[in-house]
Amino acid sequence: MKLGKLFVVATPIGNLEDITFRAVETLKSADFIICEDTRITKILLNHYQIQKPLFVMNAHNESKAISKILERIELGESCALVSDAGTPCISDPGIRLVNKIISSKIEVVGIPGSNAAIMALSISGLPTDSFVFEGFIPQKKGRQKKLQELAAEKRTIVLYESTYRIKKLLEELNKFMPEREIVVARELTKKFEETWRGNALEILSDLANKTVKGEFVVIIAPPDWRK
Ligand code: SAM
Repeated sequence: MKLGKLFVVATPIGNLEDITFRAVETLKSADFIICEDTRITKILLNHYQIQKPLFVMNAHNESKAISKILERIELGESCALVSDAGTPCISDPGIRLVNKIISSKIEVVGIPGSNAAIMALSISGLPTDSFVFEGFIPQKKGRQKKLQELAAEKRTIVLYESTYRIKKLLEELNKFMPEREIVVARELTKKFEETWRGNALEILSDLANKTVKGEFVVIIAPPDWRK
C-alpha cells in the first residue's frame, strides 16, 4: 500500500489573498486538513471554495491526534497541516506531528508562505544578515532572566507579543536595552497595519494614551550597528 504524505502548508497572517497557488492546490487535493480551530480555517477555505474534512489538533488532544493521523497516512491518505495563521510549527502547534511523521519514514512536504517574523524583518530596515528568533518570551517565570540574556545578544532579535503585553514589553526593553533601535510592527497585511520606529521610550510615547490592539512583532537592532 502506498503511504500518504504530510503537507505543511503556510496560510495568510491576515490578508486572505496572501497564499500561494500551490498552497491552494495542496489544500484542494488533500484528503483531510489538520487545523487548530475549525472556525478560523473555514474562513480561509470558504474564501477559496475548498470543502474538505477538518481534523482538529491542539494542545488538549495532541498525542491521540498524532496516532490517528499517522494511521490514516499509513493507509494512503494525504493530509495538509495548517495553523490559525502563517507557517505551522513557528510559535504554533505541529512540530510533534512533523517529528513523528519523519521518524515513521513518511514524506513531509513544506508549502511555504506567510510568516509574521520574516515579513517584519523584511520591512524593518534593520540588519537581517544574522538574527535570532525568540518568539514569545516567558510571560512570568523566567521573563526577567530572558530579557537580561537578550540585552547581551549581538544579533537582531525578533519577538512576538500580544495586545495585552506590548506596552509592558516596551517598558521592559526601555529598562534592559534603552539605547537599542526598535521596530514594532502591528497587524501586518491587515487593515490597521502600522509600524513604529525608535528606541523603546520613543515608541512608548507614540503609543501613550492609545488603546493599542492587535498582533505585534518586535524587532530589536544589534547594539551600535550604525557606527
Ligand atoms: N505561525 C505564525 C507565523 O508564521 O508568524 C505565528 C503564530 S503566533 C501564535 C501569533 C503571533 O504571531 C502574534 O501574537 C504576533 O506576535 C505574531 N503575528 C501573527 N500575525 C501577525 C500579524 N498579522 N501582524 C503582526 N504580528 C503577527
